[in-house]
Amino acid sequence: TGEIAGRHVTVAGLGVSGMPAARVLRALGAEVTVVNDGDDESARRQATDLEALGVAVRLGDGDTLPEGTSLVVTAPGWRPDKPLFAAAAAAGVPVWGDVELAWRLRGPDPAPWLAVTGTNGKTTTVRMLASILEAAGLRTAAVGNIGVSLLDAVLADEPYDVLAVELSSYQLHWAPSIRPHSAAVLNLAPDHLDWHGSMEAYAADKGRIYEGNEVACVYNTADPRTEELVRRADVVEGCRAIGFTLGSPGPSELGVVDGLLVDRAFVSPDDTHEATHEAAGSRSATVPAHSPGGRRSQAELARYRQRRAQELAEVADVDPPAPHNIANALAAAALARAFGVKPGAVRAGLRAFRPDPHRIEHVADVAGVRYVDDSKATNTHAAEASLGAYDPVVWIAGGLAKGATFDELVAKAAKRLRAAVLIGADRALIGEALARHAPDVPVVDLDRTDTGAMTAAVREAARLARPGDTVLMAPACASMDMFTNYHARGEAFAAAVRELTAGRSAAR
Ligand code: ADP
Repeated sequence: TGEIAGRHVTVAGLGVSGMPAARVLRALGAEVTVVNDGDDESARRQATDLEALGVAVRLGDGDTLPEGTSLVVTAPGWRPDKPLFAAAAAAGVPVWGDVELAWRLRGPDPAPWLAVTGTNGKTTTVRMLASILEAAGLRTAAVGNIGVSLLDAVLADEPYDVLAVELSSYQLHWAPSIRPHSAAVLNLAPDHLDWHGSMEAYAADKGRIYEGNEVACVYNTADPRTEELVRRADVVEGCRAIGFTLGSPGPSELGVVDGLLVDRAFVSPDDTHEATHEAAGSRSATVPAHSPGGRRSQAELARYRQRRAQELAEVADVDPPAPHNIANALAAAALARAFGVKPGAVRAGLRAFRPDPHRIEHVADVAGVRYVDDSKATNTHAAEASLGAYDPVVWIAGGLAKGATFDELVAKAAKRLRAAVLIGADRALIGEALARHAPDVPVVDLDRTDTGAMTAAVREAARLARPGDTVLMAPACASMDMFTNYHARGEAFAAAVRELTAGRSAAR
């Protein structure tokens, strides 16, 4: 915090990241100027609040670097190619994101970070992780998109033992010096490419999460790009690469055997008062699970780790037990185990966890048809996970494509599709992919981008669905063309489904 007092700091952007940053910087004695592109009513209201604290605000000009700035703190969403950053670079002024700021403001005995990134599953995994850490009796918080803000968490009066931190690719881009205890990249699929410029730049930003890790870099064995990022990272000596897999795990992996989540990476004799499970295909351990007291040789320990697998939980303990979510649970378990959490707490934490709304949420059954809200599927990779879970599916899709292509998604889902109903700004891109890869699937293009389009889409889907089908709203697109956010989109879907139910009971 000593590096802040008296400094001229420019905060780029109001909103959820800029407002708290400006307040905290001001409280620490900085001279703060906030610059913001917009100057609408909400911006003016926020400006008034900040000005009362002695913060200067410039609305309607987010491109000019104020005279005398010695540090820029930016909202994560600001694109790196904005003129403000070119000006900062030219003036030799460092740029920190909200995460970098939080990292620098940590107290003298800071809580370690267990960090999670990936194209999809971040929020879910971080909340599972926090649930596990809590079950282990640790003082912790799920920090990021949902719940506590990172800045609040690091400045909290009550100390935390450890933080479960969700980091987006934007945040990682602007956080060069963070050093998590351990970190996981869940998966890497094209997303936000318009912002990052290329898949390589996007992957490189995600890969920063592994830099300086102390104990474990957790990667997805099904996604070689995540392992490649581990290989490239500069980590603390002794830090291990730990894989997670939906199959039977190798020696440094967590995976699934006979309906059980098992760990072959962090097996320790301390765990053995609880059930151990033999890894598939391996012979029984030479070190007895309950060998009496005495010290074991390094070689014995190594053999022990090679051959034993520690049972952590059952697949059925994970809600929902869909493959992508088992992967999330394994990643969360790996990070918790890297922090020393015992198997029993992993199980208890996973059992206590409940998913957030709009993530493959079962809304209702109407006339034998299941209605599922996966509004949070804002990209093709996420939609692929939920489309893969149902068959046959009437698919409601469309919105803002953010530069994505839909061929792969549609080709994979084609066999399961009963029909598709398209809404939103970029629906034609999906329509064209359907024509190419699923020419026999009936497609209804509603040609609408108004909020009411969701009600029409649900009615249309209800007409196309047969008993036993699932109507799945997994748009594979962002929501901002029609809704404030994915939450509002999910609510609109749920309301439309309720109308169907009401319509049926009225008719009866
Ligand atoms: P994020 O925080 O990364 O956006 P969420 O946990 O909020 O991720 O989940 C977003 C959506 O991604 C969910 O609705 C689900 O459809 C999908 N999803 C969740 N986990 C995974 C995963 N591991 N792989 C692919 N898709 C996933």
